[in-house]
Amino acid sequence: MRKCDSCNAPTERAHSYILTTEIVVLSEAYWRDQFRFATDIVRQVGGAERALTVFSGLIGQVAGSATPWFICEDCSELFAFDRAAARQHALRGTVPEHSGPVDPGECVQFAAAAWEHVFGRWPANVQQPAVGDTCDLCAKKLYRGEIAAQIEVMAIERYLASGVLDSPPLCPPRESLGGWVSCKICMIRMVTRAERAGEGR
Ligand SMILES: [Zn+2]
Ligand SMILES: [Zn+2]
Repeated sequence: MRKCDSCNAPTERAHSYILTTEIVVLSEAYWRDQFRFATDIVRQVGGAERALTVFSGLIGQVAGSATPWFICEDCSELFAFDRAAARQHALRGTVPEHSGPVDPGECVQFAAAAWEHVFGRWPANVQQPAVGDTCDLCAKKLYRGEIAAQIEVMAIERYLASGVLDSPPLCPPRESLGGWVSCKICMIRMVTRAERAGEGR
């Protein structure tokens, strides 16, 4: 059995997906997990400057990955991708289009936001945008220019009823929107869970 390239859990092809490096590096949720795994290393190296070396090193390593990513069912909630196509690549052992390394500059903002979430400070070697808003579901800061989604009251009620969403939004619906603002991490998780529930039927 192969191991998931994100969490290292053993996983079968029939329950896995093949993703491109680009899809992986654009996921803030993926970076959060990787930085949590690296917490011990960051502590051991000590000092903010050396921690930044770890930060940049990890980004370079991940973004530089020439081969596609083998991802388990659980980790699939971290990414936005075409599930049917990615499953076919896993079953056939084929390589998706646009695989290969990406420019670290493409993903550094997502990684920096994840670093801030895990270690409590924005990495000093990355320019920090202004905060524009907050996710109504997880309280994550939404930086200017960051993609967010609007979710209607009905959709949230449906997600709560089906178990796609574990807990209600942190605040009442915004009157101006007739619903809530969700960050990309929460949105991808909800959409993926809803799709997974549909696949299981
Ligand atoms: Zn995994
Ligand atoms: Zn959120």
